Amino acid sequence: MDAYRAALLRFDELDQPQRLEDALLVVSEGRILAAGPFAEVAARHPGLSWSDWRGRTLAPGFVDAHVHFPQIDVIGSPADGLLPWLENYTFPHEARFADPAYAAQIAEVFLDELLRHGITTAMTYCSSHPASAEAFFAASEARGLRMVAGKCLMDRNSPEPVRDDTHQGLRDSQALIERWHGRGRLGYALTPRFAPSCTDAQMLGAAELARAYPGTWVQTHVAENHDEIAWVRQLYPSARSYLDVYDRLGLLRERSMYAHCIHLDAEDRARLAASGASAAVCPTSNLFLGSGLFDFTAARAAGFHWGLACDVGGGTSFSPFRTMLAAFEVARLSGVTLSPGELWYRHTLGAARAMGLGDRIGNLAPGHEADFLVLDDRATPLLARRTGAANSLAEWLFAMIVLGDDRAVSAALAQGRRVSGRLPA
Ligand SMILES: [Zn+2]
Repeated sequence: MDAYRAALLRFDELDQPQRLEDALLVVSEGRILAAGPFAEVAARHPGLSWSDWRGRTLAPGFVDAHVHFPQIDVIGSPADGLLPWLENYTFPHEARFADPAYAAQIAEVFLDELLRHGITTAMTYCSSHPASAEAFFAASEARGLRMVAGKCLMDRNSPEPVRDDTHQGLRDSQALIERWHGRGRLGYALTPRFAPSCTDAQMLGAAELARAYPGTWVQTHVAENHDEIAWVRQLYPSARSYLDVYDRLGLLRERSMYAHCIHLDAEDRARLAASGASAAVCPTSNLFLGSGLFDFTAARAAGFHWGLACDVGGGTSFSPFRTMLAAFEVARLSGVTLSPGELWYRHTLGAARAMGLGDRIGNLAPGHEADFLVLDDRATPLLARRTGAANSLAEWLFAMIVLGDDRAVSAALAQGRRVSGRLPA
C-alpha cells in the first residue's frame, strides 16, 4: 500500500471540480483505496505511512479521445487543409510503419511524449499495418497503461503503401482483437479511417466485427472539413449526411468515437446522442487545418458525450493545457464560455465517459485505477505568480490551463507506479 499527502484535484458527484488543500491518496494494488481530506483518511488508516508531497497537486491523468501514433513526426507540417495534408505528409510518413522495428521505436517515443504531457490514456490510431498496432500494444503493455487503439482500415483512395486489402484488413483486425483486446488494460478499436478511404464492404465488415466483439470500440472521423464532406457527398449521393453514411453501415453505437463532428446538423447530433456514440473534439487540429469551429452550444443541447483530444499530427501539441485553452478560445469565438472546471472535466472524467471508461479512469475516487499526475503549480515563475494569486478554484484551474505546459507535470503514475517524470523528494 502507498499513500501520498498533497493537494488533490478531483470531481464530485455533480462532476464539479474540487481541490482539497491537504489530502491523502491511498493506493493499493494499482487502484485508489481512499482519497480525501488528510485528517479524515489518516484516521481511518491507523499505522499508515505516507510520502509527504505537500506543495504539489495530485490530479487525474488526462484522457485523450483521439490521436494518431504514426503522426508524431508529422506534427507541424504546413498544408493547405486536410486533404493535401494527408496526401503530402501523413500518408508518406505512415508508410514507414510497415517496418516492425521502426514502429516499435516510434511507439516508445510516442508514449514518452503522451506521458510527459500527463496523458495516461489515449484513443489511438495506428497505421494500416498490423505491425504498427502490435508495436503500440506491446509498448503500452510493458508500461502497464490503459490504452485503446486499432490499425486503420483503408482499402481505397489511399496510396499503395498505406492501403490495405478489404478482407485482409478485416482479418488482421480480428487477429489483433483476439491477441490484444482485454489483455491487461488494453482495448481494441476497429478503425475505419474515414468513409472516403474505406469501401462499404470493409465498413460493413468492421461493423460486423464490432457486433461479434461488443466490448471493442469503433473510431473514425466525420464532418471535419468542407472539401472532405463534398467528397463524401459525391461518393454517397443518397446518404442524408456524412454521419448517415456510418449510421447506415451499422457503425454508430455505444463505444464509438467520432472525431471532429464540426459540420453536423441537428439530426446528426440527435442520432449521435440516441445511438450512444461520442465525439472527440480536437480544437488545435481544427484551428491548424482551418477545418472549422466545434459547436459547443449545439453539443450541449443534443446531449451526446464528448471529450477533448489533441489529434496529433493534425493537432499542434500533445499538451492537454494547449488543447483546453484552444477549446476555450474556439467556444469564445461563438460567444460561449466554457468554465475552467468543464474544460478540465472534458479532458479527464468527461473524456473517459465518452470512451465508456468513466468508472475506471478520469477521477481520483476509490475503486478507480491509480492513474494520476503530480502537478507543480509553481513550475515557471509566471505560473507561480498566477496560481499563487488565485482566489478560487476556477482561477487556479484557468491559470494552469493558460500558462501550464509539460513543465507543470512533475510526474505521471499508472496503476500507482511512476511512468514518467520525477517523484517529489
Ligand atoms: Zn484524426
